[in-house]
Amino acid sequence: MAELPKYKMYIDGKWVEAASGEYFESFNPFTGKPWALIPRGGADDAARVAEAAYRAGTKGDWPKLKASQRGALLRKLGDLIARDAEKLAQTEVRDNGKLIAEMGAQLRYIPQWYYYFGGLADKIEGSVIPTDKPEMFNFTRHEPLGPCLLITAWNSPLLLLAYKLGPCLAAGNTAIVKPSEFTSASTLEFAKLVEEAGFPPGVFNVVTGFGNEIGDPLVIHPRVAKVAFTGSERTGAKVYERAAARLKRVTLELGGKSPNIVFADADLDNAMKGAISGIFAATGQTCVAGSRLLVQESIHNEFMDKLVAFAKTARMGDPSKLDTQVGPVTTPPQYKKVLEYIDVAKGEGATCVMGGGPAKRPECGEGWFVEPTIFTGVKNSMRIAQEEVFGPVLSVIPFKDDEDAIEIANDVLYGLAAGVWTQNIRRAMTMAERLQAGTVWINTYRAISYMTPFGGFKHSGIGRENGQEAIRSYMQTKAVWISTATEVPNPFVMR
Ligand code: NAD
Repeated sequence: MAELPKYKMYIDGKWVEAASGEYFESFNPFTGKPWALIPRGGADDAARVAEAAYRAGTKGDWPKLKASQRGALLRKLGDLIARDAEKLAQTEVRDNGKLIAEMGAQLRYIPQWYYYFGGLADKIEGSVIPTDKPEMFNFTRHEPLGPCLLITAWNSPLLLLAYKLGPCLAAGNTAIVKPSEFTSASTLEFAKLVEEAGFPPGVFNVVTGFGNEIGDPLVIHPRVAKVAFTGSERTGAKVYERAAARLKRVTLELGGKSPNIVFADADLDNAMKGAISGIFAATGQTCVAGSRLLVQESIHNEFMDKLVAFAKTARMGDPSKLDTQVGPVTTPPQYKKVLEYIDVAKGEGATCVMGGGPAKRPECGEGWFVEPTIFTGVKNSMRIAQEEVFGPVLSVIPFKDDEDAIEIANDVLYGLAAGVWTQNIRRAMTMAERLQAGTVWINTYRAISYMTPFGGFKHSGIGRENGQEAIRSYMQTKAVWISTATEVPNPFVMR
């Protein structure tokens, strides 16, 4: 068998192996076979990269650059991503098995994050405070935090990175990126573009490996000032705890169990497409998956007939083909977890009206495919209605009226997103106000932008990414006092 291509990590402007010299395999979810070797970083690599990121942020060219020069570098990086979008998208598809149609669109959109935050870099202004103290000039500066650890999940590696890296570098920090061990290749390819853009060594670094082997040593490393994490609730809670004990700044983007609510007065054809995009797009492997479909009782049966008929036409198969609509699940543990949840739902008494097991179709080859699955008769107290599956499994819950919909929608630990389908503007506005979610979509689903804050209520996370407020979470405010008095007054009394 031909030897697999070996990737290197990017530390301090150099391409390096892990200190251990070890590698692990990265798998293609469509073929089920390994296609690349990724360095298996550990504690020694963590220490090395943390020192490099600290050095680059305190000495050398990066701290001397003007904000507008940082912005120009970010915009140049955006241009390079636009140039190589297709290639990067193909690498992501090979690694995470998501559709080329989806990853291509993401990669063509990602440059906007670097243009937007590049543009914001030189618009971060402090203020002069007309303080009540006599003979005193008082102003504020907004300064970077230091090395920031950016940890990403496997479902959209470069998009999740853009949410973090744009504001991180625009604010003048340095970055240590730790992509998921399942999908490291595209971030390592991306590092080549950062190098080409001309960022000074040590400003942007990528280390690879397993969470407990290199992620945790970085989370607790004294040089790391902030951890920006996207991943599961369980790991997020651990990272939060480990970082809190060392008083680090933390932002967390975690899981969801988002309600997608269809009222009887909705345009049902559009709502049906919204339900499909909420759960079967990206094979359900999206944090904002509309995995709880709440359907008003009076239209339940009519709506379900439409939904099932449409869902049955979804084309499964090779994610690198443009017309494929449902691809494989990304990892073997995730594949197992999705199938286990299908069994849980059956055991709880939900009715499986479509799918309900592994997809053994010829077009699915040896990949980790699960049939798009729909359960009706789900009660909101069931595990299948409360826990994140992160796969193509939809739980349909009937509701009576607006109050009932709100109560069911909010009765869950998560609060990442919610969808509402109605033609009544009063109802839409009430829902937007009362749903406990960081994002509410009315008559649409899965819309995101670099301009719009994104993040979770409740267990779905802490802090917000995207939009102007994101940059503040990568900065700290310093107050400067300058006395214009000719004499220092009584030193024993506070001024
Ligand atoms: P995960 O929690 O298993 O892993 C996420 C990252 O954390 C990986 O890079 C992993 O290596 C790293 N990690 C693991 N243990 C660690 C440790 N002890 N210290 C430091 N890092 C550690 O999540 P996943 O399975 O890769 O991703 C799926 C999850 O991500 C889902 O729950 C999904 O909802 C969530 N997600 C959330 C958003 C959002 O924006 N809210 C976006 C995408 C995915």
